[in-house]
Amino acid sequence: MAWSPSSWKTKPVAQAVEYSDEASLEKVRIRLKTLPPIVTPGEIERLRSHLAQVQSGQAFLLHAGDCAESFNACTQENISNKIGLILSFSLILIWGARVPVVRIGRIAGQFAKPRSSKTERLPDGREVLSFRGDNVNGLDPDERTPNPDRMLSAYFHSATTLNYIRGLLTSGFASLNHPRDWSLSHVRSPALKEEFERITEGLADALEFSRTIGASESIPFEMGGPKGVIGEVDFYTSHEGLMLDYEEALTRCLALPPALQPLPTSTTPIITGTPMRSRDGVSLPSSRSSSRRPGLGDATSSPRGGIREELTGHYNTSAHFLWIGDRTRQIEGAHVEYFRGIRNPIGVKVGPSMDPEELVRLIEILNPDREPGRLTLITRYGANKIEQHLPKHIAAVQGSGMPVIWVCDPMHGNTLTSTTGLKTRNFNTIVSEVASCLRIHVECGSVLNGVSLEFTGELSEDGFSVTECLGGSMQLSEEELELRYQSFCDPRLNFEQSLDLAFLLSNHYKK
Ligand code: PEP
Ligand code: MN
Repeated sequence: MAWSPSSWKTKPVAQAVEYSDEASLEKVRIRLKTLPPIVTPGEIERLRSHLAQVQSGQAFLLHAGDCAESFNACTQENISNKIGLILSFSLILIWGARVPVVRIGRIAGQFAKPRSSKTERLPDGREVLSFRGDNVNGLDPDERTPNPDRMLSAYFHSATTLNYIRGLLTSGFASLNHPRDWSLSHVRSPALKEEFERITEGLADALEFSRTIGASESIPFEMGGPKGVIGEVDFYTSHEGLMLDYEEALTRCLALPPALQPLPTSTTPIITGTPMRSRDGVSLPSSRSSSRRPGLGDATSSPRGGIREELTGHYNTSAHFLWIGDRTRQIEGAHVEYFRGIRNPIGVKVGPSMDPEELVRLIEILNPDREPGRLTLITRYGANKIEQHLPKHIAAVQGSGMPVIWVCDPMHGNTLTSTTGLKTRNFNTIVSEVASCLRIHVECGSVLNGVSLEFTGELSEDGFSVTECLGGSMQLSEEELELRYQSFCDPRLNFEQSLDLAFLLSNHYKK
């Protein structure tokens, strides 16, 4: 079947949102289609090439942020604390593993959630529709009817968040001269603080030395080179591509960035059916494969006229990276249909219910041309199930010869309810899944390329870290959970617990 941004509509939609007013939904769709892109093809292609480096083991992927963002949490303080934590975490990893870190935040668009149950019973006995994220309905039990206008709010909150992130990163926030701006001030543990300061001072010294001997140009930006941690850093956004009406409205057919356009040759059309090389040596698919592969459009004539033709692609311009959740990854379903056609690098959650053959089939559909950096598998089995499933999944993928990026999500298979009735996760169980994942990949002759985490640098009103996950160096207990439990979705590691995990990973790679 031919792909188009709306061809998903011919397939069953898992986790579909039912709107009562089709006319209002249509109005919102039309409006969204006229709004400018939030991210650009140039940025998306840059991430693809960074992810190709991740795939080949030359860089490590850190995918992290909230389970769900909320419109109310879109504040200067929250955004800078979140970015500060992602920068701190990545710096600790860079220091230990001595590899560049590609950072993708679950931020600037992570507003929609899948739910295991359509409705929920409130403590007062009322049965209401489940909260599906600010993109869909409200947390307030009286606002649970899906409202399409929320998609417009999601667009504007995403754009506002990314605007502030761009501002922060281009005005020195990521500079190693200011790591204290990364909200470390509230960290109470002197040991954590000292260890972190040792790293930033060590890195700053190393960079200063390189500058002194005139070698700083050779330091890659992710490591703090000329355009790196010192000044600007690369940072990418992501969300679960759940609301296909929203994703479709922000999908645009745009020209590939100039570096990926074929070199103009003679007066003959450039699209000839033979593989081409772009200016920076990236191999481009032939026109034969581009007609098979929906993400890359056929050549269109240049808007500037003349013989030169341009390659185009369908870009989801709402985020750099999107993933398919564990509940919406059906091979014959609408989400897989939509995702197979976009040019963005994408992820798929892989849980215990994935059959190994189904996994291979899914990879073939989502990355038929075996493009490096295109597809990330985010595994999330649970610490006590990973042994049973990961080796089979690795073997199936290896047997197929398909290239993928392997990322460990140690959060989603490890959720439990505390004796006080709060949804939580245990730090030790999270560490256990990461440790097993690292070991199993080695045992299977494979490589773990990154981690996907739910953590937050957000503080409570009284300036303390949130208390949503148990354990860590602060030994957060069940009784303490309710002190500053702020998540309305899954429990997140707080600032200190995240740094604990960063140091564990960093030390693992140092050995
Ligand atoms: C999530 O990442 O927040 C999520 C819902 O994950 P999964 O689809 O793996 O359950
Ligand atoms: Mn979650």
